[in-house]
Amino acid sequence: MQDFRSFYIDGSWVDPMGLDTVPRIDPTTGRNIGLVAVGSEADIDRAVAAARRAALGYRGVSTAQRADLLRSILAEYTRRSGALADAIVEDMGAPVRFARSAQVPAGMAHLSGAIRSLLAQDAVVVRGRTHLARDPIGVCGFITPWNWPLNQILAKVAPALAAGCAIVLKPSEQAASSAQVLAEIIAAAGVPRGVFNLVHGDGRTTGAALSAHPGVDMISITGSVQAGVEVAAKAAPGVKRVAQELGGKSAHIIFDDDNLRTNVARGVRQVMLNSGQSCNAPTRMLVPRARMEEVIEEARTAASRITVGAPSDNPVMGPVAHRALFNSIQMHIAVAIANRCRLVAGGAGRPEGLPDGFYVKPTIFANVDPKSALAQEEIFGPVLAIIGYQDIEEAITIANDTEYGLAAYVSGADTEAAYAVSRKLQAGQVSINGAFDFEAPFGGFKKSGNGREGGDGALDAYQEIKAIMGAPPRKAPEREAGVAQST
Ligand code: NAD
Repeated sequence: MQDFRSFYIDGSWVDPMGLDTVPRIDPTTGRNIGLVAVGSEADIDRAVAAARRAALGYRGVSTAQRADLLRSILAEYTRRSGALADAIVEDMGAPVRFARSAQVPAGMAHLSGAIRSLLAQDAVVVRGRTHLARDPIGVCGFITPWNWPLNQILAKVAPALAAGCAIVLKPSEQAASSAQVLAEIIAAAGVPRGVFNLVHGDGRTTGAALSAHPGVDMISITGSVQAGVEVAAKAAPGVKRVAQELGGKSAHIIFDDDNLRTNVARGVRQVMLNSGQSCNAPTRMLVPRARMEEVIEEARTAASRITVGAPSDNPVMGPVAHRALFNSIQMHIAVAIANRCRLVAGGAGRPEGLPDGFYVKPTIFANVDPKSALAQEEIFGPVLAIIGYQDIEEAITIANDTEYGLAAYVSGADTEAAYAVSRKLQAGQVSINGAFDFEAPFGGFKKSGNGREGGDGALDAYQEIKAIMGAPPRKAPEREAGVAQST
């Protein structure tokens, strides 16, 4: 029985103030294996009060001390990386090797990135008698999803700690285990009490209470568009800053050249990794219409190489994380088949030999109408829509014809041409020929959200700029100073 009925508040593990819980379901069997407490308004009140008290002292901690604190979290995180990987396997059924080699290291990258950004930033920029100071924004409320759970928590927590903020985290109710281990790591690393607080719970109760709380200065959510909108609406009366990292339906434009087959195979694998549960997955593959049959043959071969199975067997794909998602993916596949979309691989139902759990077949449709639900809606599972284009201008139009704008992909031998196309795409990140850079900012155009995480400006979201005019003359920027209280 996995029991997540305690919260980390003000430096201690405490009991919830209410009795509300949600069941914890094993994605590999569909069976109930435990409970997660649902934090009430009173629990959020208590966590926010602790964070507000701690924020007063923490904002005065020097840059060097904050960098040391992050280094110590990184060291503890590295030491406990095995326990973190096990927790991710429990939370979402990720293949063990994938949890160790991709999920856990993604969190490390945010910790080291935040240290770099902190040390590169001037606490005060001197422009003659005007000084521009960066103050921590105060108390941050963070709401995170389960699909890359440590990555998404640390994309917020690491830069916020670097910036001098206090935090109340509400992780996904699906990913309680990895959040719990992370809270233990943060506690062991010596983060002052109250600076980091964890309250488990669902969106409707705990997430809503955090979004609306007047003691929270900024709220950042990673999740679906619907959740992002509801958080912003709850936050609006308090005029707090809102950051949203939301859904995607990313296009992958593949050029008509000799590399087409290799690029198709890579594109199929990119969609299926993490069982299709990545916000930036290239789920719309745009290919030259004249070569559609060749593409279909290659995509079918690539799909046949995607193994599906139990996490301990290290397949490419484990199950998807929860029952509602499994049902929704099956519904999308059934509707596409009913609408006579051309099924190339996979389809409805579970893969052979896996009668239980939330396992889905790697599924590919071809000749998909770019206006159809299959091409427009985020399915968040291992389902690829292949769409034909006549020429590159049409490919760009189709790629941009979506309410999302998180990521885009361009693959072709001519990288100058790929670069020219990337400049025309409405997406926060464009990957040419599969390139990825953990130090690049991440975030979306359009309904994929607002704001960016990571990159050189990672701390910006958690800081206020204060212009002090008529300041005494200074020669050099102040790299070190703890930030004075502004109230
Ligand atoms: P979700 O929207 O169901 O939940 C995300 C988080 O928001 C959870 O902690 C949930 O409890 C909370 N929540 C839900 N409704 C809420 C409400 N009304 N008020 C406050 N909190 C609420 O999403 P999910 O299923 O956990 O994750 C999948 C979604 O996240 C996909 O849409 C995916 O594209 C998106 N995502 C985006 C990024 C990004 O960086 N842009 C990264 C990962 C996932």
